[in-house]
Amino acid sequence: MQCKNHPTQMAVDRCAGCAESFCSDCLVEIQGQKYCGSCKIMAVKGPPPAVIEQGSIPCKEADDALKYAIIGIFCFGIVLEPIALVRAFKARKLIAANPDLTGSGKATAATIIGIVALLLWVLGLMAKFSRV
Ligand SMILES: [Zn+2]
Ligand SMILES: [Zn+2]
Repeated sequence: MQCKNHPTQMAVDRCAGCAESFCSDCLVEIQGQKYCGSCKIMAVKGPPPAVIEQGSIPCKEADDALKYAIIGIFCFGIVLEPIALVRAFKARKLIAANPDLTGSGKATAATIIGIVALLLWVLGLMAKFSRV
């Protein structure tokens, strides 16, 4: 393992910011974490809020909810939309409990699509039955 900046030097550790390997000349220790030259600047300024404070793991339930909601618009909505709503509800609970998860926007979209599409399906079925 060599230093990213000095190919002739052996790396001693990885930068806590970019996870690249660096030699002891390049790494600076800040609050117990080792950083390279370019990451040091960010570390001194404080953690970049977009990377550390916001969630970085997409919530699978939210993805699934949105998928079911969208497919349900076109087919089997009477079955798929309730599934989408349940999944969206579950996703919102998971995201609320775990700040690392992202996808609250998707869960909200799935809820809205789910309710509207379900209403349309129910109205459509009612219209069909009343004609019969
Ligand atoms: Zn770095
Ligand atoms: Zn170096």
